[in-house]
Amino acid sequence: MTRWRYAAATDTGYVRESNQDALFVDDALAIVADGMGGHAAGEVASAMTVETLYQGFVHQATLDAMVRSFDAANREVLSDAKTNPDRFGMGTTALCVALLDEPGAGRAPVLFHVGDSRAYQLRDGALKQLTQDHSVAEEWVRMGRLTPEEALVHPRRHQLTRAIGVDQPLEIDVQSLSVQVGDRVLLCSDGMSNELTPEQIATLAGADVGLDEAVQSLVQAAKNAGGRDNISAVLVEFDEVYETSVPINRVITPLPPAPPPADLVNALLPSRAKRQRRLVTWRTSGAVLVLAALAWGFVAIMHWYAYANFYISTDAGRVVIYQGQPGGVLWFKPQLSHLTRYTAKDFRPADQSAIAATINEPSKAAAIAYLTYLHGQYQLSIPTTTTTVPVTTTVATTVKKSAG
Ligand code: MN
Repeated sequence: MTRWRYAAATDTGYVRESNQDALFVDDALAIVADGMGGHAAGEVASAMTVETLYQGFVHQATLDAMVRSFDAANREVLSDAKTNPDRFGMGTTALCVALLDEPGAGRAPVLFHVGDSRAYQLRDGALKQLTQDHSVAEEWVRMGRLTPEEALVHPRRHQLTRAIGVDQPLEIDVQSLSVQVGDRVLLCSDGMSNELTPEQIATLAGADVGLDEAVQSLVQAAKNAGGRDNISAVLVEFDEVYETSVPINRVITPLPPAPPPADLVNALLPSRAKRQRRLVTWRTSGAVLVLAALAWGFVAIMHWYAYANFYISTDAGRVVIYQGQPGGVLWFKPQLSHLTRYTAKDFRPADQSAIAATINEPSKAAAIAYLTYLHGQYQLSIPTTTTTVPVTTTVATTVKKSAG
């Protein structure tokens, strides 16, 4: 058996207009939820979550039941936000220690956590943080992108990566607590952990005073340090401890709600044979859909590739620009894109052979520009042609200028 004594306190602080934190504690369950969202939305999310976790635990003090309650709270907050636009985007952290039933044995403490509320364990004055913050800045510290000091002032330190009401499915950190008689466990919102250093928390939470006095002094200290956010704390002290033989420490994602029992499904369907036939049909149409999608994708890529190119060639003596790949791709044949005013004879012999062998260009404009350039080169190579006269003049002028 595990038994604890408990105390709790919460305060709006000096800056916030309302207290959006919610908490609960009795002799088997302790919860802190730090709600966020405009107007009263944060309060709704945190209160809803505490209520749902409490109901789930009362119904059944098991790991499965708690995980299902977290999932239920998440769905409720999400759907409430959907039906009440003024509560759009509301969410809450959820931090909870529950004494869970172990068959034929005692009750053992298990910690559940999403968000940036924190749990600390105190033993003989030493403080140990039990939770990792699910915030962008703290995740970056764990990845080595920020130092812990940078994280304290980082603009994204309040942005949560996990919370109730943000996403589905939820990922919950779950861990068995390894406690001894006399240990204290503190659950608090970030309004406390942001204002106080771990040393201050250790001193105040571990003080040799009653739990009530300790928790009040913690909240008061966080207020004195600035009180820039709602401040909440639940403090428990273990009087008797049962340590589980099957400790757990992992991230749990709740399974989707169980489907209706097979009996009910059978009753709803006319016959088993029909159901099987339907299954086969669905599987077949599923496979056909996948194949069709693959084929469509292949054709789309081929079509893109076939017409992503332009090339210069000749057609009945005229120089032309085609869109497509020379020779075509599958059934995508090159298309005539532009009929130029040139014939093969408007180019130098070497360029004529290059054109006969086709010249690839990325666009029609590039192909035209290149042909204009080649034709210019051809004109320069024939000094007697009348069209070259102005060019020659220009060259002569330039030469004169540089000479003078
Ligand atoms: Mn907060």
